[in-house]
Amino acid sequence: MATKILAAQNRMFKNTFVCKRCKHKLKVEPLKVLQGSVRCRKCGQSDFRPIRKK
Ligand SMILES: [Zn+2]
Repeated sequence: MATKILAAQNRMFKNTFVCKRCKHKLKVEPLKVLQGSVRCRKCGQSDFRPIRKK
């Protein structure tokens, strides 16, 4: 059961990042975040963290 939940969480949170400035959630490929080619649609900056890390 725990594995099932984990798999679901991976599906839900994979590729989802949170803007460090305005906490806006954004679904994007991790590679693009690392490259810095992604900008927050709300505030326009490009500093993101993975959604799982609190
Ligand atoms: Zn933002």
